[in-house]
Amino acid sequence: MQTTIVVLGAGVSGLTSALLLAKNKNNRITVVAKHMPGDYDIEYASPWAGANVQPMSLRDNSRWERRTWPELRRITEQVPEAGIHFQKSLIYRRDGDLVGGYFPDGLFEKDPWFKEVLPNFRELDSSEVLPGHDSGAEVDSICINTAVYLPWLLGQCLKAGVVVKRHILTHISEAKALNHTGKAADIIVNATGLGSLKLGGVEDKKMAPIRGQIVVVRNECTPMVSTSGTDDGPTELLYIMQRAGGGGTILGGTYDKGNWESQPDPNIAQRIMTRAVAARPGLTNGKGVEGLSIVRHGVGLRPFREGGVRIEEEKLADGTCVVHNYGHSGWGYQGSFGCAEAVVVLVEKIQRQQKAKL
Ligand code: FAD
Repeated sequence: MQTTIVVLGAGVSGLTSALLLAKNKNNRITVVAKHMPGDYDIEYASPWAGANVQPMSLRDNSRWERRTWPELRRITEQVPEAGIHFQKSLIYRRDGDLVGGYFPDGLFEKDPWFKEVLPNFRELDSSEVLPGHDSGAEVDSICINTAVYLPWLLGQCLKAGVVVKRHILTHISEAKALNHTGKAADIIVNATGLGSLKLGGVEDKKMAPIRGQIVVVRNECTPMVSTSGTDDGPTELLYIMQRAGGGGTILGGTYDKGNWESQPDPNIAQRIMTRAVAARPGLTNGKGVEGLSIVRHGVGLRPFREGGVRIEEEKLADGTCVVHNYGHSGWGYQGSFGCAEAVVVLVEKIQRQQKAKL
């Protein structure tokens, strides 16, 4: 029996969901979105991500990130054209940062769950810790060049028979009429990220932006660096990651909840660059901030959801079945396959119910 599915959203969540759903050849899938890979827009978080795997969850809700790592590792090893490479990651902690604010954050735990998943976790010797920090660790991870990975993901969907359309929806029920077969959609998958705050029929007031400002530079720097805090205020971060395939190096950043500002702030940019060069003078061979070769300044809004990601089914007033997959905040890539697997499980459950009614 064929099932018509409309996936709303072409960020990493929508495209990964569509790709896994397309493994069932009876699914007729249309991805519908306002923004597509190749676009840079404040309403589209995915292109702005670093993106790396730096687990953020605590052990209790680590399933999405745990389930995603094996697939991202497989792609990194076997599919160079996806634009992901392995990189060691250095994590530096200041004891004073680890309470209050945005903590707890699983990345900075001293005995983290992810040492069972990511290879070669090791606590650093005090002599190896970045000055001004109390402790640190290293672990093998990956960095995704999102400018390569998102088009690759879209290409994998097309190869699997998924049809992709641009469209702006004001109400989720409009998706019902947008399957390419012309038949009403049996199931809608909602992967609209922060769009779920305003999309009619969803209007999830638990959604909020966490603004992230970054600088992309041509300078190279490995391994990756993340610190638990900075001296520049609670919304400012320090992280560095070099993307695969000539994607430049991302200097981050900020983590500013409730801030919708779409334009880069030059003062923040200056602080980001100053912190990065202070932590890694080798970035510019000792030439200071002036030695940075800037590709672009950027701002993205992480789709935060109070209480966590929403992956669940819902029935609209007209009986249409929706499976939600939104609210991934700062971990949308590193949880993408785990969440998409859960979408498939929910879609299959609905399919069994719909079949039983026939
Ligand atoms: P989005 O990418 O925002 O996609 C939403 C889609 O829905 C778009 O196609 C949009 O056009 C569409 N849409 C919305 N509303 C409508 C509508 N009404 N009609 C039609 N279409 C609509 N994650 C990591 O895993 N690792 C990292 O290192 C990392 N770093 C980050 C750094 C920054 C600076 C930022 C901003 C984010 C970072 N993230 C990282 C988080 C990650 O980018 C997000 O969690 C992820 O991109 C969310 O993807 P999404 O597909 O759910 O949403």
